[in-house]
Amino acid sequence: MIELDLSGKTALVMGVANARSLGWAIAEQLLAAGAKVAFSYQGERLKPELEKLTKDYPGTLLQQADATNEDELTALFARVKDEFGGLDALVHSIGYAPREAMDGRFLDTTAADWNTTLSVSAYTLVSLCRHAEPLLREGSSVISLTYYASQKVVPKYNVMGVAKAALEAATRYLAAELGAAGVRVNTISAGPMRTIAARSIPGFSTMYDKAAQVAPLGRNATSQEVGKLALFLLSDLASGITGQVVYVDAGSSVMAMKMD
Ligand code: NAP
Repeated sequence: MIELDLSGKTALVMGVANARSLGWAIAEQLLAAGAKVAFSYQGERLKPELEKLTKDYPGTLLQQADATNEDELTALFARVKDEFGGLDALVHSIGYAPREAMDGRFLDTTAADWNTTLSVSAYTLVSLCRHAEPLLREGSSVISLTYYASQKVVPKYNVMGVAKAALEAATRYLAAELGAAGVRVNTISAGPMRTIAARSIPGFSTMYDKAAQVAPLGRNATSQEVGKLALFLLSDLASGITGQVVYVDAGSSVMAMKMD
């Protein structure tokens, strides 16, 4: 068994709302491997939950930062620089689409909903990497979370599918530019997981059950499996991997159909 030792390494995880968040599943793996982890959260209402989750890790850095707010990002990365010096791992686990944009027809997507969804769910990866760039070093690794609706139509995913396609393309462009500094950028395509963000997707439970039925493994992947893949991509074990969309979905994305 390979035991990863990330002691002496530093990480920033953005987008933990509660214990079910994929960001938390990733943070748990990083913390278990000995990394020092900082967390940022969108609004002050999330702070008590993060304090509860991180109570066994005294001294954990917690800071409010809306990922679309340049001033808050500047303050966040200045604090991470002061307290950590640099960053070995950056985790973007952020997504948002207005409910009405996923409830109706894709054809009826408004410009405002399109801009909000792509700004929060895709552009923030670019701005986070730009803010983080001075802290990233040879061997540092950036990951985000995407979903297969970027590639194929998933009913109701609508403009979020477009945002995930943008996120995946941005991953490739960022990998191309940051590669010269030895920094890797990848995105994890996770199968459906029961989180707060997922609950806002109309018909999520049906989607969840159908994905499990079609998956070669006969089930859905778990958030712990997302965490393990993240740990791999954030570690030196993945030193040759960048610009990729890496799936952890119990195989459901390889199936065109199932005949039973
Ligand atoms: P989650 O627990 O709800 O996490 C989403 C996080 O994004 C929340 O902490 C949310 O904060 C944060 N966020 C939204 N807008 C933000 C902003 N402007 N600035 C900073 N943070 C912001 O749900 P999750 O499922 O773990 O989502 C994490 C990522 O995984 C997302 O990119 C999602 O699309 C992706 N993903 C999820 C699934 C799934 O089935 N769950 C599958 C594939 C990919 P608030 O709570 O304050 O809004």
